Amino acid sequence: MKMQSNDSYSTEVWQTMDAAHHIHAFVDQKKLNAEGPRVIVKGEGMYLWDSEGKRYLDGMSGLWCTQLGYGRRDLIEAASRQMEQLSYYNMFFHTTHPAVVELSELLFSLLPGRYSHVVYTNSGSESNEVLIRTVRRFWQVVGKPSKRIMIGRWNGYHGSTLAATAMGGMKFMHEMGGMLPDIAHIDEPYWYAHGGDMTPEEFGLRCARQLEEKILELGSDNVAGFVAEPFQGAGGMIFPPESYWPEIQRICRKYDVLLCADEVIGGFGRCGEWFAHQHFGFEPDTVSIAKGLTSGYVPMGGLVLSRRMAEALVEQGGVFAHGLTYSGHPVAAAVAIANLKALRDEQIVERVKTDTGPYLQRCLRELFSDHPLVGEIQGTGMVAALQLADDKATRKRFEKEDEISWRCRTLGFEEGVIIRSTLGRMIMAPALVASHAEIDELLDKTRRAMDRTAQSLGRG
Ligand code: PMP
Repeated sequence: MKMQSNDSYSTEVWQTMDAAHHIHAFVDQKKLNAEGPRVIVKGEGMYLWDSEGKRYLDGMSGLWCTQLGYGRRDLIEAASRQMEQLSYYNMFFHTTHPAVVELSELLFSLLPGRYSHVVYTNSGSESNEVLIRTVRRFWQVVGKPSKRIMIGRWNGYHGSTLAATAMGGMKFMHEMGGMLPDIAHIDEPYWYAHGGDMTPEEFGLRCARQLEEKILELGSDNVAGFVAEPFQGAGGMIFPPESYWPEIQRICRKYDVLLCADEVIGGFGRCGEWFAHQHFGFEPDTVSIAKGLTSGYVPMGGLVLSRRMAEALVEQGGVFAHGLTYSGHPVAAAVAIANLKALRDEQIVERVKTDTGPYLQRCLRELFSDHPLVGEIQGTGMVAALQLADDKATRKRFEKEDEISWRCRTLGFEEGVIIRSTLGRMIMAPALVASHAEIDELLDKTRRAMDRTAQSLGRG
């Protein structure tokens, strides 16, 4: 195996060493090892480079997280300065530090006024683990300890740790060991696949009313909260019909069930508002955050609590029996501050709302509405999905949609663009800093990948 002249290993060496020791996320390890993973060695702005020197436009902002793109000097310098000043300290010993205090101040200046406190974590999964215990604790404190059950949605995704997996609705994840008591599920509001003859609005109401039926079945005295992504990410970038969220909110309020928004993807500008629930027009009691909080430069997440919950927990709750070594890590906090200031001061979220987001959405529809493989286009701001359809008129999906969308994603890599495939949907979620020219490039290359996919099916 050869070494490259610049002293880094060759692609083959990286792949061999990786195969020897590393279990990757959500793939058949043996198959991956046989193929060899792409080795990504560099990122700058919207672009990534692999170890063969090939450049890709990253249409997925990493894993829906690099809001500012790669290699921002201000974030790098914030991390470096903080490491020199105070590389680590904890919040266990009746202590705090300036970075985390300043971050909280900034975070709540961006959130709507109904929120007042946050529990910091290091990932989205942890935010949702904390969610379950915090919601149950809240009900204990206010004298309703029987309210323990969390209701999630089939095909929802809330992370890979045990309780986050259980609350999520990915059955193949449950099979690996991920079911817990006191967790229930209702259907996802995926009209294209499951809407039948109903209009999207009728279907949205029907899906929302499943929540009411489930609460009545379990007993509202036993239900603690309902958790969902404002738009479903890993489960296919599915936007619910407009009737859905208002009805969900009405039901949660009626039965005093906490409404918990998982904004790990939706938070920090993705839909052109700071938080996705603002775009969809509902008011959750908790907001799970991660990813865009630091633009993915370092791990950090959190669970944001409404004033009602925080007041009960702080004033009457006694000891909050929870803590993570790295909660509110000073380096992560310093990076988050730099990230949020850049998003705010460079008006990046506003630009997604008024300029780049509408541009992406308009061009996408112009380019793909008549495409032979595309049955539906959904999205807003800097997130979008193309639904593959075998027959557009009847909304018939391809039998092998998983295989076809994977092929399209692979052709995307060949064309120099990274888009994601999820069952029969192609997903894009570029960094929020994408320019019009970069959006053009993203769409041109995606179009080429889609055309080649259509040709491979004899539909070019
Ligand atoms: N919630 C949602 C909605 C997510 O999309 C993800 C990750 N994609 C998570 C939670 C889990 O976050 P993490 O991978 O940081 O644990």
